Amino acid sequence: MNRILIIGSGASGMAAAISAAQANSSAQITILDGLDRIGKKILATGNGRCNLTNAQIAPGHYHTQNTARLNELLADMPAERPLTFFRELGLYCTEEDRGRIYPYSRQASMVLDVLRLALRRYHIQIQQNCTVRSLSVDKKVFTAQTESGKTFCADAVILAAGGRAAPKQGTNGTSYPLALQMGHRYARLYPCLVPLRCGQQTSMLKQLKGIRVICRATLFDGKQKLTEELGEVQLTDYGLSGIPALQLSCWMNKPIQEQAYTVRLDLFPDWQHNELRSILQQRVKQYPTDKIEDNLLGLINKKLLFAALETLHLTPIDRPSSSLKRQDIDALVSLLKGWDFPITGVQTWDHAQVTGGGVFLNEIDNRFRSVKQPGLFLAGEVLDIAGDCGGYNLHWAWCSGITAGEAAAEYIAHE
Ligand SMILES: Cc1cc2nc3c(=O)[nH]c(=O)nc-3n(C[C@H](O)[C@H](O)[C@H](O)COP(=O)(O)OP(=O)(O)OC[C@H]3O[C@@H](n4cnc5c(N)ncnc54)[C@H](O)[C@@H]3O)c2cc1C
Repeated sequence: MNRILIIGSGASGMAAAISAAQANSSAQITILDGLDRIGKKILATGNGRCNLTNAQIAPGHYHTQNTARLNELLADMPAERPLTFFRELGLYCTEEDRGRIYPYSRQASMVLDVLRLALRRYHIQIQQNCTVRSLSVDKKVFTAQTESGKTFCADAVILAAGGRAAPKQGTNGTSYPLALQMGHRYARLYPCLVPLRCGQQTSMLKQLKGIRVICRATLFDGKQKLTEELGEVQLTDYGLSGIPALQLSCWMNKPIQEQAYTVRLDLFPDWQHNELRSILQQRVKQYPTDKIEDNLLGLINKKLLFAALETLHLTPIDRPSSSLKRQDIDALVSLLKGWDFPITGVQTWDHAQVTGGGVFLNEIDNRFRSVKQPGLFLAGEVLDIAGDCGGYNLHWAWCSGITAGEAAAEYIAHE
Protein backbone atom coordinates (compact mmCIF):
# COMPACT_ATOMS: atom_id res chain seq x y z
CA MET A 1 0.00 0.00 0.00
CA ASN A 2 2.02 2.99 -1.17
CA ARG A 3 0.11 4.93 -3.83
CA ILE A 4 -0.90 8.54 -3.18
CA LEU A 5 -2.97 10.35 -5.77
CA ILE A 6 -3.18 14.13 -5.63
CA ILE A 7 -5.96 15.86 -7.54
CA GLY A 8 -4.75 19.34 -8.51
CA SER A 9 -1.23 20.62 -9.18
CA GLY A 10 -1.72 24.10 -7.71
CA ALA A 11 0.01 25.48 -4.63
CA SER A 12 -1.50 23.02 -2.15
CA GLY A 13 -1.19 20.00 -4.47
CA MET A 14 2.50 20.55 -5.18
CA ALA A 15 3.29 21.24 -1.51
CA ALA A 16 1.39 18.06 -0.55
CA ALA A 17 3.28 15.95 -3.10
CA ILE A 18 6.70 17.18 -1.97
CA SER A 19 5.99 16.84 1.75
CA ALA A 20 4.55 13.33 1.26
CA ALA A 21 7.69 12.31 -0.64
CA GLN A 22 9.91 13.81 2.07
CA ALA A 23 7.97 11.96 4.78
CA ASN A 24 7.83 8.56 3.06
CA SER A 25 10.45 7.73 0.47
CA SER A 26 8.64 4.58 -0.67
CA ALA A 27 5.44 6.47 -1.54
CA GLN A 28 4.44 6.40 -5.22
CA ILE A 29 2.98 9.82 -5.81
CA THR A 30 0.98 10.94 -8.83
CA ILE A 31 -0.55 14.36 -9.42
CA LEU A 32 -3.46 14.79 -11.84
CA ASP A 33 -4.37 18.18 -13.28
CA GLY A 34 -6.91 19.27 -15.86
CA LEU A 35 -4.56 21.88 -17.36
CA ASP A 36 -1.75 21.27 -19.82
CA ARG A 37 0.84 22.84 -17.50
CA ILE A 38 1.32 22.84 -13.76
CA GLY A 39 1.21 25.78 -11.40
CA LYS A 40 -0.27 28.19 -13.95
CA LYS A 41 -1.99 30.25 -11.25
CA ILE A 42 1.19 30.68 -9.22
CA LEU A 43 2.71 32.64 -12.13
CA ALA A 44 -0.15 35.16 -11.90
CA THR A 45 0.07 35.69 -8.14
CA GLY A 46 1.21 38.96 -6.60
CA ASN A 47 1.29 40.60 -10.05
CA GLY A 48 3.93 38.12 -11.15
CA ARG A 49 5.95 38.51 -7.91
CA CYS A 50 4.10 35.89 -5.79
CA ASN A 51 3.24 37.19 -2.36
CA LEU A 52 3.69 33.74 -0.91
CA THR A 53 2.97 34.25 2.78
CA ASN A 54 2.77 36.93 5.47
CA ALA A 55 4.78 37.45 8.65
CA GLN A 56 1.58 38.35 10.54
CA ILE A 57 -0.62 35.29 10.14
CA ALA A 58 -3.76 35.75 12.28
CA PRO A 59 -7.36 34.50 12.15
CA GLY A 60 -8.59 38.06 11.54
CA HIS A 61 -7.21 37.87 8.00
CA TYR A 62 -9.42 34.90 7.09
CA HIS A 63 -13.13 34.44 6.34
CA THR A 64 -14.98 31.20 7.10
CA GLN A 65 -18.24 30.03 8.67
CA ASN A 66 -16.29 28.21 11.38
CA THR A 67 -13.87 30.57 13.08
CA ALA A 68 -13.35 28.24 16.06
CA ARG A 69 -11.99 25.48 13.77
CA LEU A 70 -9.99 28.04 11.81
CA ASN A 71 -8.26 29.20 15.02
CA GLU A 72 -7.28 25.61 15.83
CA LEU A 73 -5.95 24.95 12.35
CA LEU A 74 -4.05 28.24 12.07
CA ALA A 75 -2.36 27.62 15.42
CA ASP A 76 -0.22 25.01 13.61
CA MET A 77 0.53 27.29 10.67
CA PRO A 78 3.01 30.01 11.64
CA ALA A 79 4.60 32.01 8.81
CA GLU A 80 7.82 30.12 9.50
CA ARG A 81 6.20 26.91 8.22
CA PRO A 82 6.14 27.67 4.47
CA LEU A 83 9.39 29.64 4.77
CA THR A 84 11.21 26.59 6.18
CA PHE A 85 9.64 24.40 3.51
CA PHE A 86 10.83 26.72 0.74
CA ARG A 87 14.26 27.31 2.26
CA GLU A 88 14.82 23.56 2.20
CA LEU A 89 13.91 23.61 -1.49
CA GLY A 90 16.46 26.40 -2.04
CA LEU A 91 14.10 29.41 -2.24
CA TYR A 92 14.98 32.48 -0.18
CA CYS A 93 12.38 35.07 0.68
CA THR A 94 12.17 38.65 1.83
CA GLU A 95 9.62 40.72 3.76
CA GLU A 96 8.08 43.94 2.46
CA ASP A 97 5.49 46.29 4.00
CA ARG A 98 2.64 44.94 6.14
CA GLY A 99 4.46 41.63 6.61
CA ARG A 100 4.09 40.61 2.95
CA ILE A 101 6.66 37.98 2.02
CA TYR A 102 7.97 37.49 -1.53
CA PRO A 103 10.68 35.37 -3.08
CA TYR A 104 13.99 37.22 -2.89
CA SER A 105 14.04 37.40 -6.70
CA ARG A 106 10.48 38.88 -6.66
CA GLN A 107 9.65 36.40 -9.41
CA ALA A 108 6.64 34.09 -9.19
CA SER A 109 8.31 31.98 -11.87
CA MET A 110 11.16 31.27 -9.43
CA VAL A 111 8.69 29.82 -6.91
CA LEU A 112 7.31 27.54 -9.59
CA ASP A 113 10.82 26.61 -10.75
CA VAL A 114 11.91 25.38 -7.32
CA LEU A 115 8.67 23.44 -6.88
CA ARG A 116 9.07 21.76 -10.26
CA LEU A 117 12.67 20.89 -9.48
CA ALA A 118 11.61 19.29 -6.19
CA LEU A 119 8.86 17.31 -7.95
CA ARG A 120 11.52 15.98 -10.34
CA ARG A 121 13.98 15.21 -7.53
CA TYR A 122 11.36 13.12 -5.73
CA HIS A 123 10.24 11.37 -8.94
CA ILE A 124 6.66 12.55 -8.58
CA GLN A 125 4.54 11.64 -11.59
CA ILE A 126 2.54 14.46 -13.15
CA GLN A 127 -0.36 13.71 -15.46
CA GLN A 128 -1.64 16.78 -17.26
CA ASN A 129 -4.90 17.22 -19.22
CA CYS A 130 -6.53 14.93 -16.64
CA THR A 131 -9.66 16.55 -15.23
CA VAL A 132 -11.05 14.20 -12.61
CA ARG A 133 -14.81 13.78 -12.95
CA SER A 134 -15.50 11.05 -10.41
CA LEU A 135 -13.94 9.65 -7.30
CA SER A 136 -15.01 6.42 -5.60
CA VAL A 137 -13.62 4.04 -3.00
CA ASP A 138 -13.99 0.30 -2.64
CA LYS A 139 -12.17 -1.88 -0.09
CA LYS A 140 -9.81 0.98 0.76
CA VAL A 141 -8.81 1.52 -2.88
CA PHE A 142 -9.72 4.85 -4.45
CA THR A 143 -10.54 5.13 -8.15
CA ALA A 144 -10.44 8.46 -9.97
CA GLN A 145 -11.90 8.72 -13.44
CA THR A 146 -10.97 11.52 -15.77
CA GLU A 147 -13.06 13.34 -18.35
CA SER A 148 -11.21 11.52 -21.11
CA GLY A 149 -11.96 8.12 -19.57
CA LYS A 150 -8.61 7.38 -17.92
CA THR A 151 -8.67 5.60 -14.56
CA PHE A 152 -6.19 6.02 -11.69
CA CYS A 153 -6.19 3.89 -8.54
CA ALA A 154 -4.59 4.80 -5.21
CA ASP A 155 -4.49 3.96 -1.52
CA ALA A 156 -4.78 7.58 -0.42
CA VAL A 157 -6.13 10.66 -2.18
CA ILE A 158 -5.43 14.34 -1.50
CA LEU A 159 -8.13 16.56 -2.95
CA ALA A 160 -6.29 19.81 -3.77
CA ALA A 161 -8.28 20.93 -6.80
CA GLY A 162 -8.92 24.52 -5.63
CA GLY A 163 -12.14 26.50 -5.78
CA ARG A 164 -14.21 28.35 -8.39
CA ALA A 165 -12.30 31.62 -8.71
CA ALA A 166 -10.17 32.33 -11.80
CA PRO A 167 -11.61 29.47 -13.89
CA LYS A 168 -9.23 30.24 -16.76
CA GLN A 169 -6.51 28.91 -14.49
CA GLY A 170 -8.19 25.52 -14.23
CA THR A 171 -10.41 26.11 -11.22
CA ASN A 172 -14.03 26.03 -12.28
CA GLY A 173 -15.48 24.31 -9.23
CA THR A 174 -15.10 20.66 -10.25
CA SER A 175 -13.50 19.98 -6.86
CA TYR A 176 -16.83 20.28 -5.02
CA PRO A 177 -18.70 17.41 -6.74
CA LEU A 178 -15.69 15.21 -5.95
CA ALA A 179 -15.94 16.22 -2.27
CA LEU A 180 -19.69 15.46 -2.34
CA GLN A 181 -19.00 12.01 -3.80
CA MET A 182 -16.81 11.36 -0.74
CA GLY A 183 -19.66 12.30 1.64
CA HIS A 184 -18.61 15.90 2.32
CA ARG A 185 -20.80 19.01 2.34
CA TYR A 186 -19.80 22.56 1.62
CA ALA A 187 -20.74 26.12 2.59
CA ARG A 188 -22.25 28.38 -0.08
CA LEU A 189 -19.60 29.55 -2.56
CA TYR A 190 -19.12 33.23 -3.31
CA PRO A 191 -16.43 35.18 -5.19
CA CYS A 192 -13.86 36.89 -2.97
CA LEU A 193 -11.18 39.50 -3.67
CA VAL A 194 -13.37 40.66 -6.53
CA PRO A 195 -14.33 44.21 -7.68
CA LEU A 196 -17.74 45.55 -6.62
CA ARG A 197 -20.55 46.68 -8.92
CA CYS A 198 -22.63 49.80 -8.20
CA GLY A 199 -25.27 49.56 -10.94
CA GLN A 200 -27.38 52.55 -9.89
CA GLN A 201 -24.55 55.03 -10.25
CA THR A 202 -23.31 53.98 -13.67
CA SER A 203 -23.64 57.34 -15.41
CA MET A 204 -21.68 59.17 -12.72
CA LEU A 205 -19.11 56.37 -12.52
CA LYS A 206 -18.50 56.58 -16.25
CA GLN A 207 -17.21 60.15 -15.72
CA LEU A 208 -15.06 59.08 -12.77
CA LYS A 209 -13.62 55.95 -14.40
CA GLY A 210 -9.89 55.54 -13.78
CA ILE A 211 -9.66 57.81 -10.72
CA ARG A 212 -7.67 56.38 -7.82
CA VAL A 213 -8.22 57.87 -4.40
CA ILE A 214 -6.73 57.10 -1.00
CA CYS A 215 -9.72 56.85 1.30
CA ARG A 216 -11.43 54.88 4.04
CA ALA A 217 -13.97 52.42 2.64
CA THR A 218 -16.55 51.16 5.12
CA LEU A 219 -18.91 48.28 4.36
CA PHE A 220 -22.46 48.37 5.74
CA ASP A 221 -25.17 45.75 5.63
CA GLY A 222 -28.21 48.01 6.03
CA LYS A 223 -27.27 50.18 9.00
CA GLN A 224 -24.83 47.69 10.46
CA LYS A 225 -21.15 48.39 9.92
CA LEU A 226 -19.33 45.19 8.93
CA THR A 227 -15.75 46.35 8.43
CA GLU A 228 -13.55 49.10 7.04
CA GLU A 229 -10.39 49.31 4.92
CA LEU A 230 -7.97 52.17 4.35
CA GLY A 231 -6.16 52.34 1.02
CA GLU A 232 -6.35 53.23 -2.64
CA VAL A 233 -9.79 52.69 -4.15
CA GLN A 234 -10.06 52.69 -7.91
CA LEU A 235 -13.26 54.00 -9.50
CA THR A 236 -14.30 52.08 -12.59
CA ASP A 237 -17.20 52.42 -15.01
CA TYR A 238 -19.08 49.63 -13.22
CA GLY A 239 -18.12 50.34 -9.58
CA LEU A 240 -15.21 50.05 -7.15
CA SER A 241 -11.93 48.22 -7.42
CA GLY A 242 -8.50 48.41 -5.75
CA ILE A 243 -7.36 46.47 -2.71
CA PRO A 244 -9.85 47.99 -0.18
CA ALA A 245 -12.82 47.10 -2.43
CA LEU A 246 -11.47 43.58 -3.05
CA GLN A 247 -11.02 43.03 0.69
CA LEU A 248 -14.60 44.16 1.41
CA SER A 249 -15.95 41.56 -1.03
CA CYS A 250 -14.77 38.81 1.35
CA TRP A 251 -17.39 40.00 3.85
CA MET A 252 -20.29 39.73 1.38
CA ASN A 253 -21.04 36.09 2.07
CA LYS A 254 -24.82 36.42 1.64
CA PRO A 255 -26.61 36.70 -1.74
CA ILE A 256 -26.07 40.34 -2.70
CA GLN A 257 -29.53 40.72 -4.22
CA GLU A 258 -31.06 39.93 -0.81
CA GLN A 259 -28.75 42.23 1.16
CA ALA A 260 -28.45 45.99 1.44
CA TYR A 261 -24.68 46.23 1.15
CA THR A 262 -23.33 49.77 0.86
CA VAL A 263 -19.75 50.99 0.68
CA ARG A 264 -19.21 54.42 2.27
CA LEU A 265 -16.12 56.29 1.10
CA ASP A 266 -14.47 58.84 3.36
CA LEU A 267 -12.35 60.86 0.91
CA PHE A 268 -10.64 62.77 3.74
CA PRO A 269 -9.77 60.05 6.25
CA ASP A 270 -7.11 62.23 7.92
CA TRP A 271 -9.49 65.06 8.83
CA GLN A 272 -12.51 65.15 11.12
CA HIS A 273 -15.78 66.66 9.83
CA ASN A 274 -15.19 69.93 11.70
CA GLU A 275 -11.65 70.27 10.34
CA LEU A 276 -12.78 69.86 6.74
CA ARG A 277 -15.74 72.18 7.36
CA SER A 278 -13.56 74.98 8.72
CA ILE A 279 -11.11 74.60 5.81
CA LEU A 280 -13.94 74.95 3.26
CA GLN A 281 -15.56 77.85 5.14
CA GLN A 282 -12.22 79.64 5.37
CA ARG A 283 -11.59 79.33 1.63
CA VAL A 284 -15.05 80.67 0.77
CA LYS A 285 -14.59 83.54 3.20
CA GLN A 286 -11.14 84.39 1.83
CA TYR A 287 -12.05 84.32 -1.87
CA PRO A 288 -15.82 84.98 -2.06
CA THR A 289 -15.73 86.12 -5.70
CA ASP A 290 -13.86 83.03 -6.96
CA LYS A 291 -15.99 80.58 -8.89
CA ILE A 292 -16.92 77.55 -6.75
CA GLU A 293 -15.02 75.28 -9.13
CA ASP A 294 -11.83 77.34 -8.68
CA ASN A 295 -12.18 77.97 -4.99
CA LEU A 296 -12.22 74.28 -4.11
CA LEU A 297 -9.28 73.31 -6.32
CA GLY A 298 -6.28 71.72 -4.65
CA LEU A 299 -8.25 69.51 -2.28
CA ILE A 300 -9.10 66.33 -4.15
CA ASN A 301 -9.28 65.10 -7.71
CA LYS A 302 -11.17 67.73 -9.74
CA LYS A 303 -13.56 65.27 -11.36
CA LEU A 304 -14.51 63.84 -7.97
CA LEU A 305 -15.13 67.30 -6.56
CA PHE A 306 -17.32 68.30 -9.52
CA ALA A 307 -19.26 65.01 -9.24
CA ALA A 308 -19.85 65.76 -5.54
CA LEU A 309 -21.15 69.26 -6.33
CA GLU A 310 -23.37 67.84 -9.07
CA THR A 311 -24.70 65.10 -6.77
CA LEU A 312 -25.71 67.78 -4.24
CA HIS A 313 -27.16 69.98 -7.01
CA LEU A 314 -24.72 72.75 -6.03
CA THR A 315 -24.62 73.82 -9.67
CA PRO A 316 -23.76 75.76 -11.74
CA ILE A 317 -20.22 75.52 -10.41
CA ASP A 318 -19.04 78.71 -12.12
CA ARG A 319 -21.09 80.93 -9.80
CA PRO A 320 -19.31 82.90 -7.01
CA SER A 321 -18.29 80.99 -3.92
CA SER A 322 -20.20 83.48 -1.74
CA SER A 323 -23.43 81.91 -3.07
CA LEU A 324 -22.63 78.73 -1.11
CA LYS A 325 -24.72 78.75 2.06
CA ARG A 326 -23.62 77.29 5.37
CA GLN A 327 -25.87 74.25 4.88
CA ASP A 328 -24.39 73.73 1.38
CA ILE A 329 -20.92 73.47 2.90
CA ASP A 330 -22.25 71.13 5.60
CA ALA A 331 -23.79 68.92 2.91
CA LEU A 332 -20.54 68.92 0.91
CA VAL A 333 -18.52 67.94 3.99
CA SER A 334 -20.99 65.13 4.78
CA LEU A 335 -20.73 63.77 1.24
CA LEU A 336 -16.94 63.99 0.99
CA LYS A 337 -16.63 62.28 4.39
CA GLY A 338 -19.30 59.67 3.67
CA TRP A 339 -20.18 59.05 0.05
CA ASP A 340 -22.48 56.01 -0.21
CA PHE A 341 -22.16 53.53 -3.07
CA PRO A 342 -24.96 50.92 -2.89
CA ILE A 343 -23.58 47.57 -4.04
CA THR A 344 -25.66 45.82 -6.68
CA GLY A 345 -23.33 42.90 -7.32
CA VAL A 346 -19.75 41.84 -7.83
CA GLN A 347 -17.73 41.08 -10.93
CA THR A 348 -17.75 37.50 -12.24
CA TRP A 349 -15.73 34.52 -11.01
CA ASP A 350 -13.25 35.34 -13.80
CA HIS A 351 -12.28 38.49 -11.88
CA ALA A 352 -12.21 36.88 -8.42
CA GLN A 353 -8.90 35.83 -6.89
CA VAL A 354 -10.30 33.38 -4.36
CA THR A 355 -13.43 31.46 -3.37
CA GLY A 356 -15.40 32.11 -0.21
CA GLY A 357 -17.19 29.06 1.23
CA GLY A 358 -16.18 25.46 0.54
CA VAL A 359 -15.96 22.14 2.37
CA PHE A 360 -16.84 22.69 6.03
CA LEU A 361 -13.78 22.93 8.28
CA ASN A 362 -15.32 20.57 10.84
CA GLU A 363 -15.21 17.82 8.19
CA ILE A 364 -11.41 17.64 8.38
CA ASP A 365 -9.24 17.00 11.44
CA ASN A 366 -6.13 18.97 12.44
CA ARG A 367 -4.03 17.01 9.94
CA PHE A 368 -6.41 17.70 7.06
CA ARG A 369 -7.72 14.13 7.11
CA SER A 370 -11.31 13.74 6.01
CA VAL A 371 -13.58 12.79 8.88
CA LYS A 372 -15.95 11.26 6.33
CA GLN A 373 -13.62 8.97 4.40
CA PRO A 374 -10.44 7.30 5.74
CA GLY A 375 -7.55 7.71 3.30
CA LEU A 376 -8.92 11.00 1.93
CA PHE A 377 -7.25 14.35 2.68
CA LEU A 378 -8.33 17.86 1.65
CA ALA A 379 -6.11 20.90 1.21
CA GLY A 380 -6.20 24.46 -0.11
CA GLU A 381 -9.01 26.59 -1.42
CA VAL A 382 -11.52 23.72 -1.70
CA LEU A 383 -12.02 24.20 2.06
CA ASP A 384 -14.27 26.87 3.59
CA ILE A 385 -11.67 29.59 3.84
CA ALA A 386 -10.75 32.78 2.04
CA GLY A 387 -7.93 35.07 3.06
CA ASP A 388 -7.30 38.78 2.67
CA CYS A 389 -4.83 40.16 0.13
CA GLY A 390 -1.30 39.93 1.48
CA GLY A 391 -0.14 36.33 1.05
CA TYR A 392 -2.78 34.77 3.32
CA ASN A 393 -4.31 32.53 0.65
CA LEU A 394 -1.08 30.99 -0.54
CA HIS A 395 -0.04 30.61 3.09
CA TRP A 396 -3.15 28.48 3.67
CA ALA A 397 -2.55 26.52 0.48
CA TRP A 398 1.11 25.67 1.28
CA CYS A 399 0.49 24.85 4.95
CA SER A 400 -2.61 22.73 4.42
CA GLY A 401 -0.84 20.96 1.54
CA ILE A 402 2.31 20.25 3.59
CA THR A 403 0.25 18.89 6.51
CA ALA A 404 -2.04 16.81 4.29
CA GLY A 405 0.99 15.38 2.44
CA GLU A 406 2.67 14.31 5.69
CA ALA A 407 -0.56 12.80 7.00
CA ALA A 408 -1.16 10.88 3.74
CA ALA A 409 2.42 9.54 3.82
CA GLU A 410 1.85 8.35 7.38
CA TYR A 411 -1.52 6.80 6.45
CA ILE A 412 -0.11 4.62 3.66
CA ALA A 413 2.78 3.53 5.90
CA HIS A 414 0.48 2.31 8.65
CA GLU A 415 -2.57 0.89 6.86
C1 LIG B 1 -4.67 36.56 -10.22
C2 LIG B 1 -4.47 35.95 -8.85
C3 LIG B 1 -3.49 36.47 -8.03
C4 LIG B 1 -3.31 35.93 -6.75
N1 LIG B 1 -2.30 36.42 -5.98
C5 LIG B 1 -2.09 35.90 -4.74
C6 LIG B 1 -1.00 36.32 -3.94
O1 LIG B 1 -0.15 37.11 -4.36
N2 LIG B 1 -0.90 35.81 -2.68
C7 LIG B 1 -1.77 34.87 -2.19
O2 LIG B 1 -1.64 34.45 -1.05
N3 LIG B 1 -2.78 34.40 -2.96
C8 LIG B 1 -2.95 34.86 -4.22
N4 LIG B 1 -3.96 34.37 -5.01
C9 LIG B 1 -4.79 33.25 -4.48
C10 LIG B 1 -4.01 31.91 -4.54
O3 LIG B 1 -3.37 31.80 -5.79
C11 LIG B 1 -4.94 30.71 -4.34
O4 LIG B 1 -5.68 30.87 -3.16
C12 LIG B 1 -4.14 29.40 -4.26
O5 LIG B 1 -3.43 29.21 -5.46
C13 LIG B 1 -5.05 28.22 -4.02
O6 LIG B 1 -4.28 27.05 -4.04
P1 LIG B 1 -4.95 25.64 -4.30
O7 LIG B 1 -3.84 24.66 -4.37
O8 LIG B 1 -6.03 25.38 -3.34
O9 LIG B 1 -5.66 25.75 -5.71
P2 LIG B 1 -5.11 26.21 -7.11
O10 LIG B 1 -3.78 26.84 -6.98
O11 LIG B 1 -6.20 26.97 -7.70
O12 LIG B 1 -4.88 24.84 -7.89
C14 LIG B 1 -5.92 23.93 -8.16
C15 LIG B 1 -5.48 23.06 -9.32
O13 LIG B 1 -6.42 22.01 -9.47
C16 LIG B 1 -6.68 21.79 -10.84
N5 LIG B 1 -8.01 21.19 -10.93
C17 LIG B 1 -9.20 21.75 -10.64
N6 LIG B 1 -10.19 20.86 -10.78
C18 LIG B 1 -9.61 19.71 -11.17
C19 LIG B 1 -10.11 18.42 -11.46
N7 LIG B 1 -11.41 18.11 -11.37
N8 LIG B 1 -9.22 17.45 -11.86
C20 LIG B 1 -7.89 17.74 -11.95
N9 LIG B 1 -7.38 18.93 -11.66
C21 LIG B 1 -8.22 19.90 -11.27
C22 LIG B 1 -6.55 23.15 -11.46
O14 LIG B 1 -6.24 23.07 -12.83
C23 LIG B 1 -5.44 23.80 -10.64
O15 LIG B 1 -4.18 23.60 -11.25
C24 LIG B 1 -4.14 34.86 -6.29
C25 LIG B 1 -5.12 34.35 -7.14
C26 LIG B 1 -5.28 34.87 -8.42
C27 LIG B 1 -6.33 34.28 -9.32
